[in-house]
Amino acid sequence: MRLKGKTALITGGTLGIGKATAKLFVDQGADVFICGRNEEVGKKAAEELGCTYHRVDVSDRQVVQVWVDDVVGKTGKVDILINNAGITRDGLLVKVKEGELVKQLAEEDFDLVVSVNLKGTFNCTQAVAPYMIKQGSGSIINTSSVVGLDGNFGQTGYVATKAGIVGMTKVWAREFGRFNVRVNAIAPGSIQTEILESMPEKFLTELKKHQPLGRFGQPEEIAYANLFLASDEASFVSGATLRVDGALVLGT
Ligand code: NAP
Repeated sequence: MRLKGKTALITGGTLGIGKATAKLFVDQGADVFICGRNEEVGKKAAEELGCTYHRVDVSDRQVVQVWVDDVVGKTGKVDILINNAGITRDGLLVKVKEGELVKQLAEEDFDLVVSVNLKGTFNCTQAVAPYMIKQGSGSIINTSSVVGLDGNFGQTGYVATKAGIVGMTKVWAREFGRFNVRVNAIAPGSIQTEILESMPEKFLTELKKHQPLGRFGQPEEIAYANLFLASDEASFVSGATLRVDGALVLGT
């Protein structure tokens, strides 16, 4: 019961890493509120986990504010925010064949990834922070990625957002520290969720060869990192980005 009595908001808590985190947080005694856009999936997850679902698109500032106000109205506080919602829209910045430009990353795809991953994290944190500052405590965990630290082929927009999230984490750790609000980020490696499963089989086979542990991570293995950073055990950890990648970056 490491989170007994805590109120936790988890964006994108309806699937994958967010859902595994919501399950662990419920098991650890937290009052958990999850959000996502797909209502059917969200309601099913909430029922299964014993938490509360709201239909929220994190890129919509007004909807985010209503969600956060509503949760605080019901519980009287917010202790933990996990900024987990994220999407990918991958492609080469420019694709050239025999010297001719044949394709380029669509501007709409770049904008969409920025609006969800980066702006969504900004929106949720800006809505939650005043409550945490007022109560004099809180833990915010932003979801970056190893590619935000090291870059990746074909992921201009996604990498930009995940690197930006590391930057915002450091700014907010400085800004909120004096109010006893901690801000950290996690940088998962290759985790077995829908994001990974949407990638081409050939790419995944190659990727696995570079995993020192010989396998992809499981969502629960990221959930435990979130639990540590959210809990009082991490009371002196702020401004950090924790790699949880099975040494992927070191390679085999
Ligand atoms: P996932 O299985 O695709 O789940 C994504 C979650 O985010 C879903 O609940 C989805 O629900 C929600 N979501 C997407 N867009 C949203 C929006 N605009 N507003 C609110 N919710 C939204 O993804 P995952 O693999 O668990 O990834 C979770 C986070 O970890 C992401 O930030 C991802 O970038 C990061 N990450 C993942 C990996 C990996 O290998 N899986 C590695 C590094 C980092 P709806 O679709 O219903 O909105």
